[in-house]
This record gives sequence, C-alpha cells and structure tokens, in this order.
Amino acid sequence: MPSGDGLLIRAKAVGSCMSAAQAQGIAKIAKACGNGLIDLSQRAQLQLRGISEATIAEALRRLDAIGMLAPNADAERVTNIIASPLAGLAPGAFDANQMAAVLAGELQRDATLRALPPKFLFMLDDGGALSLADVEADIRIEAIANGEVAIRIAGVPDRAVFVAADEALDVGLRFARAFVELRAQHAYAFKRVRTLVEALGAEALPDAAGLTMRVSKESRTIAPRARIFGPQRCGAVAYAGVGAPFGRWRADELAAVAEFAQDEGTGELRLTPWRALLIVTPDNEAARRVISRAQDHDLITSSNDQRLAVIACPGAPECPQALAETRAHVMELAPLAQKIVGADGVGLHLSGCAKGCARQSASPITLLACAEGFDLIENGGADGAPRFRSLTFEAVMRELSARAAGRPQ
Ligand code: SF4
Repeated sequence: MPSGDGLLIRAKAVGSCMSAAQAQGIAKIAKACGNGLIDLSQRAQLQLRGISEATIAEALRRLDAIGMLAPNADAERVTNIIASPLAGLAPGAFDANQMAAVLAGELQRDATLRALPPKFLFMLDDGGALSLADVEADIRIEAIANGEVAIRIAGVPDRAVFVAADEALDVGLRFARAFVELRAQHAYAFKRVRTLVEALGAEALPDAAGLTMRVSKESRTIAPRARIFGPQRCGAVAYAGVGAPFGRWRADELAAVAEFAQDEGTGELRLTPWRALLIVTPDNEAARRVISRAQDHDLITSSNDQRLAVIACPGAPECPQALAETRAHVMELAPLAQKIVGADGVGLHLSGCAKGCARQSASPITLLACAEGFDLIENGGADGAPRFRSLTFEAVMRELSARAAGRPQ
C-alpha cells in the first residue's frame, strides 16, 4: 500500500504466533529495505514502513523466506483473522491458531469467500484468559463459559448461534458466504457486516445463511491491561508483555525483543491487538528478566505507562489524508490523558481526519485535526459532534488540564 513515507507492506501472520527468528527477520528487512519502522496494527499484524520501489522485490522475497508472505494478492487481501494471543498455550475451548490456519485455507481456496471485501475480519476467541471482547470484527467465534461456542455478527451484540467447538468454523463460514451473496444482491453497497445489519436488519444475514440466532446473555469482559503488560502468568504459561508507543516499533527494538525471546524465552512471541507483543518464557523469573531488559529500551512494560492513555493515528506527513501531525505533542498530553481514562484505559484519541482509523469507539476526549488546530469531541469518536472547534495546542492543554483536575468546562 502506498503511504506518505513510502510503501507499506504487511508481514502476514496467520494466527497469533510468531517465532523469534521471524521477528528478527522482520527487523532486518525493515532496516535493509524500509525506513526501519514497523507498526503492530490493531489487527495484530506487523507492517513494515518506508519501503521503496527499488527495495520492494527484495523485501517481499525476504518475507517469503521467513514464511510471512501471503501466497498471492487475493490471499493477502482476504486473510484477515485475529486469534487468541495465548492460543494453544493457555486453556481454551479450542485451539484458535489451528482454527485460524483452517480458516485461512478456506478463505484462500473458496472462490465465494475470496469475494469478501478487504477489511472483512474474523475473530477467534478461545474463551481463555485474554479475551478479545474489545476487537471489532465482522464475524466473532467466541467460546463462552458453558463449553459452547457463540458465533456472533457485528451490529447484533445480543444474539448468537450456539454450537459445539467443532461446528463453529462451519457456522462462521456460512455467515461469510451469505454476506457475499447479500452484498452482490445489493450492488456491493456493504463493505462490512455492521453496515449490512444497519440497512437490512438483524435477521437478514442469519436468514440468508439458514441459521437461527437466539438471545445471548453471555458476554466476555475486556482483557484488563494489567494482564497484558509486564511479567505475567496464566495457568502453566509465563510470558512478558512488552509494547511500543502507538504500536510503532523501531527495527532495533523489535530485534532486541526477538533476542529476549531467544535468550530468556521459548523462542516464541505472540501478537496481540493491544500494541503489545507477548514473549513466552519457561517461568516467571525469565519473564521478569525480559521486562527488565525491555525497560532499558524504554519500551512499555506496565499497564500504568502514561503512553497507553493516548491513541493516535499516524497523521501527517505519513497519511496523505491527515490535516495535521497527530503524534508531535503526545508526550505532553499523556499525563493529562491518563487522569481521564475510561474503562479501557484510554483517555485521549488524536485523529488526523474524521475517518478515525486508530479507534472506532468513543473516547473521553477525541481531538480531530482541522485546518487550524483541533476540534474537541467529548465522549465520542472522530465522527462525533465537536464541543469546541479549531483549538490551538495551548487551548487543548487548558481543556485537558481542567478535566484532569475534575473541572469539566
Ligand atoms: S484517521 Fe485519517 S489521517 Fe489518520 S490514518 Fe486514518 S485516514 Fe489517515
């Protein structure tokens, strides 16, 4: 994909697992062929930035050599899956990584499924400790407490199809194929399930798939940040959760984390949608050593890190649609943002335009870049109605300071 700082290419991971050697390989490719920056996306995929026309062929060749290149452009476009970060390690109702591999095979083999639109996302949550409840996906396959698996569709949170784990993927694929059919019948007007549900109602997709949804009172709670960052233990699994601000890793940082995984860990990392990599370790002590080494690199190693309170899209100059820089003043805003965080630990969202790529849900404060300064939206997203327009940075600081002090304006 073209971007403001060159081409952007994805290192395709199917499922949440990545080896230390693959992470090391990505760091080397980023340095040799790109600008040395790598984004860990909200879809738990690593993206290399600043690739040029002169280096793209070599970058793709090297990604292929480490097993992180989709077999062709169709496969790259349609294989969009988030799987439980601890799949296969911690207890779960099914192995989400195995399911992801089967699902990827179906998406790439089946001509109907290859017609899914590019952002169409599957989420596979095994019901284990790190819930994916905060991930916005079109089709959610989610283990629930009674041993059943709920298959949900975006825009219909209170109903699901319930089946045994070995039937779950089949149901998810029936929904996906029905979406392709309905979309074609409506002149390709819908890019996501949510927009189809808004236009045609909650029953249209299950009816087209021949499935019956029933009322679902079960819901997963969002994985607390305190279970993600730092040294952790989940059943028999120990891991160290480490992040980079905004999910943007420098090649040297990623190489260092790969080295920790090799030296102290089991040689395995897990990708998450929360700007964090989990380094799997043989025991708690090794996880603590990883965290100590990560702190030397100024990486995020604690859920209390102020940098987690701010979400910002790349903004200008990287994104051509951005009306301003979004990350320039973040370090000044982070302490204030931390004082106004909502339930998910985010207080402030900075967006370069109304598209709001970095966060679709509401934040206590959203700052939307405009021709002169920022519009300020309270308890809404980038498409919300501004409370104040065209604030200077100084005015933004005043507004945030007042809220942080408990004095809303
Ligand atoms: S929100 Fe707008 S400015 Fe930010 S990355 Fe998305 S398109 Fe670009």
